[in-house]
Amino acid sequence: MDPNIYVLIKNEYDRRRKKAIDELEARKSELYYHVPRLEEIEEEIHRAGFKYNKLLLMGLLSSDSAEEELTTAIDNLGEERSKLLSKYGYPSDYLTPAFACDKCSDTGIVASVSGDKTCVCYKQQLINYIYDQSNLSITGNEGFASFLADFYADVPSEARYGIKKSPRRQILGILENCKNFVENFGSSEVRNLLFSGPTGVGKTYMSGCIAIELMNRGYTVLYQTAPSLFNTIYEYRYKSSNDDSYDNSVYKSIMEANLLIIDDIGTESPTGMRYAELLGIMDTRCANDKRKPCKTIIATNIDLKKLFEYYDERVVSRITGSYDIFRFAGDDIRRLKNSTPP
Ligand SMILES: [Zn+2]
Repeated sequence: MDPNIYVLIKNEYDRRRKKAIDELEARKSELYYHVPRLEEIEEEIHRAGFKYNKLLLMGLLSSDSAEEELTTAIDNLGEERSKLLSKYGYPSDYLTPAFACDKCSDTGIVASVSGDKTCVCYKQQLINYIYDQSNLSITGNEGFASFLADFYADVPSEARYGIKKSPRRQILGILENCKNFVENFGSSEVRNLLFSGPTGVGKTYMSGCIAIELMNRGYTVLYQTAPSLFNTIYEYRYKSSNDDSYDNSVYKSIMEANLLIIDDIGTESPTGMRYAELLGIMDTRCANDKRKPCKTIIATNIDLKKLFEYYDERVVSRITGSYDIFRFAGDDIRRLKNSTPP
């Protein structure tokens, strides 16, 4: 996990708390101007509470009557305040800070008998950041549940699809493997994935499903098309040493995200330098994978034979050595969707 994420989230919580408290102060000063008695009540409650705590600390709260007297006084003041608020037409919670999360008062932490725990809102916040940083456009994708095999023809045609099985049987097999990939993601046994097949047969969509399933489990994901990936690398080489304002977070994420998706590989213009960069990424991620999950999905429209001609032998041997290769087949789903009546 990128340590920056925790700093960002901490800042976000501080910002939220401050906002809730600033807004309360603004409400108070306006309210106390109109109903001065409410400010007196606040001060009296404060004084009574202070006295109560002081007696408690000094061990002088032993007599029941002293305790009762103070708590009754505080209760009465609270009641008077509620009545005044209602009389002047203010909601009963007008003098409590409006935190985004009532459970943790926007601290991200809740106290429990077994110690402090992170609040559910913190986990959600973390996932939101992971989504933001993933660079994925995932509209309409809800993970495997939204993957529809119905778009794949159920009739085999090797001439048309280049595989013996029907595209539907093929995709259901791939789906099963992808689910296993997610299920066992934390295990070092899990291999990387290579998706090949023509345009519009669901490679990017399937990568998105996997990404969503993993992000919901708290794993970081980065999606990059091959051209943007190489641009990021070149920018890093060019700027990291001579541009102070350069932000290397995407570069770091290429090396360290739990899942890196490289889409459309083979569409970038081939140069020896790119092979070397790709090898560098593969090797770094492979080394990182020994400490924490660091897997890669590569998707390509180019026929595997061509891809292997196109890329350097060393890249090919890395791919065949540590990737499970899946061939997507079928008709162009985008075209099918557009021609299907809603
Ligand atoms: Zn919370």
